[in-house]
Amino acid sequence: MVISTKYSSPHFRAIRRAEVDTVVMHYISAVNLDKDDPFNEEKIADLLTKPIPVGDGKSVKVSAHYLVSREGEVFRLVDEKHVAWHAGKSKLPDGTNIKGSCNDFSIGIEVMGGKWIKYEDAQYEAIIELIKDIKTRYEIEHLLGHEDIAPGRKTDPGEHFDWEKVRAGLENKKIVTNPLKGITIESTIENNITDGVTEEEEEEDKVEDKKAEEKPKPNVIQTLIDLILRLLRIKK
Ligand SMILES: [Zn+2]
Repeated sequence: MVISTKYSSPHFRAIRRAEVDTVVMHYISAVNLDKDDPFNEEKIADLLTKPIPVGDGKSVKVSAHYLVSREGEVFRLVDEKHVAWHAGKSKLPDGTNIKGSCNDFSIGIEVMGGKWIKYEDAQYEAIIELIKDIKTRYEIEHLLGHEDIAPGRKTDPGEHFDWEKVRAGLENKKIVTNPLKGITIESTIENNITDGVTEEEEEEDKVEDKKAEEKPKPNVIQTLIDLILRLLRIKK
């Protein structure tokens, strides 16, 4: 499939702490910035590639692996092998999370949309093709909305998102979609700020990643232990 690399986001953690098995769907718009032009591509790309000021000279960084335009154009902002910052505080319906979030084991897809507007057919076509493409690289077990992994806090991709259409397009009944559909969500939070990573958190991640890289891999240690045990046994 054709994927544009016109935009690229520096907002990611380099090392994943788990295998990818989840795809999270979101909606995004620039309606808070310009209500007359809510799907301005540049403004939306800015939200996912540049720090968002939150006052006191501080900012948060938000991102996603993919962005789907109203016309169904797909942009890759973050490489799938890295952790994008799209889910924020979240967990799978069974409780699974890593340090309070689904970011480490998920791929995030932002679809241009909002609670006031239906999604376009071209967007569904692009989403289905994109998820099929992702499934050639990862064993995807969960396809969920942000509202499913952060109920009460998030409302995207919202009631306009036609999960049945996506499920039918994927021809895969095994994928769990939208298990919480029907649960009332009272949150009205529409911005991405609560999903962002602060500079302090980013620094902590970098230190942790560096430590992990310096440490010998556990399987190397296990191999050495096995070898020593085998040698001891031979001596006896
Ligand atoms: Zn979201």
